[in-house]
Amino acid sequence: MEIHPGLRRAHATVAEVNDGLQPGAASLSCDVLVIGGGAAGVAAAVAAGRAGAKVVLLERYGFLGGLATAAQVGTVCGLYLRDSTGSSALPVAGGFVQEFGSRLQRAVGEQPLRLERGLWALPFSIPVFGSVADAVLSEYDNVTVVLHATVAGATAEGARVVQAHALAWNQPLTLRPVTVVDSSGEATVAGLAGAAVENGAGDQAPSLVFSLEHVDASRTEYGLLEVRRELRRAVEMGALPALCERLSLIPGTGRDGRLDLKLTLAPASTDRPLWQHITCWEREARALVLDICRFLSQNTTTFQQARLASVAPQLGLRSGGRIQGRARLADEDVLSGRKSALGIARGCWPMERWGTSARPEMTLFNERDYYEIPLDCLRPAKLDNVFAAGRCFSASAGAMTSARVIGTALATGWAAGTAAAFQALNRPLDEAVATIRRQMSE
Ligand SMILES: Cc1cc2nc3c(=O)[nH]c(=O)nc-3n(C[C@H](O)[C@H](O)[C@H](O)COP(=O)(O)OP(=O)(O)OC[C@H]3O[C@@H](n4cnc5c(N)ncnc54)[C@H](O)[C@@H]3O)c2cc1C
Repeated sequence: MEIHPGLRRAHATVAEVNDGLQPGAASLSCDVLVIGGGAAGVAAAVAAGRAGAKVVLLERYGFLGGLATAAQVGTVCGLYLRDSTGSSALPVAGGFVQEFGSRLQRAVGEQPLRLERGLWALPFSIPVFGSVADAVLSEYDNVTVVLHATVAGATAEGARVVQAHALAWNQPLTLRPVTVVDSSGEATVAGLAGAAVENGAGDQAPSLVFSLEHVDASRTEYGLLEVRRELRRAVEMGALPALCERLSLIPGTGRDGRLDLKLTLAPASTDRPLWQHITCWEREARALVLDICRFLSQNTTTFQQARLASVAPQLGLRSGGRIQGRARLADEDVLSGRKSALGIARGCWPMERWGTSARPEMTLFNERDYYEIPLDCLRPAKLDNVFAAGRCFSASAGAMTSARVIGTALATGWAAGTAAAFQALNRPLDEAVATIRRQMSE
């Protein structure tokens, strides 16, 4: 039987280090440990692998992609500059961000879409995103991916994380890294190791994405108006809760009788821990999706034959924990398009805040402009060998509503992985910054 090369490597590595340990206990040593296989973690692992480091990537789910796949978000934003006049999408930066975007584009066979106000996004199919991430990582013999591995502990000595503890398919696994990339989306490892973490869980509202198929494709545009009208009527009659009016469409869907929709809930309050919120949200929102589908098929023409095709396995949480870094990206940095000599990633998406209405509040900055994220925003104030990437680096709540998009998560992931590899291999961080800046300008 043909075994996927990445799997073969992971088995070989664990078997090697298992020698001499109790059955069931294992430990892995590596130069760079990457926690989380979302957009940022995938980019970080590839960057560190390309820089020659021995890398281990741990992901708690059985697939890669993070929110892109688990929450089925459907489009990549942050790859192209905002531009309402040009005829094609202008990349915000070169290097890995564009490389990944191009590979994804080829794999899905889609062109970037121009949305309202000159914003561009690349639509993708959910399984294809995961398989592109798998394919990219499989190219590196020095990168070991461990799926179903949840990190639940980290030990620091002084200002350095020296160990992390995970359950990999329910078996204990100890990691001994030289440097760490925290791309968990929640600053999990930084927090477990004792670094200060800002709780951003209540900053933005979460959404549950679901898909309907067999929608009358000839009526899709009209269908959405019909959905809104009928849902409003149902809410007014008391047949459905008010929340159902907060339904919106994922751009680029609807052409083939399949519609991807998102139901937006209220932002978290601080009265109880997030794990309690999530349990309630996911159970209630899934039940509500079934009610909405039943109602639409019984009360609208467009959705008469429609069937629920899928509900995202995870609720889409837009905001969570963020490190308190040596520097912090501020709202003004984003809105003024601030550049920095230590800039290691470019952001070009506007500030997009999801609050209590069906549509987000957008704060735009200049067309064809971008801001830069300095390396120190990725470095926790009190940990020397940890780099945070993706939606958990150090930023104000407002700035993160821009920098969290997948294109920018790939960019900060790439930078964190490069910096972590350079540090692990005793190369100066200045050199890492210069390398990343050169790649961004390619
Ligand atoms: C509903 C919704 C719609 C969105 N729409 C878009 C859109 O259209 N376009 C766009 O560009 N962006 C969109 N976003 C934002 C974007 O999807 C995310 O911000 C981005 O994917 C974050 O990437 P990340 O790698 O930083 O984090 P994540 O994608 O959250 O990845 C973190 C990874 O870490 C893993 N992990 C967490 N804890 C542990 C642990 N303890 N041990 C091991 N693994 C762990 C998780 O399983 C996950 O795979 C949307 C977000 C939401 C919620």
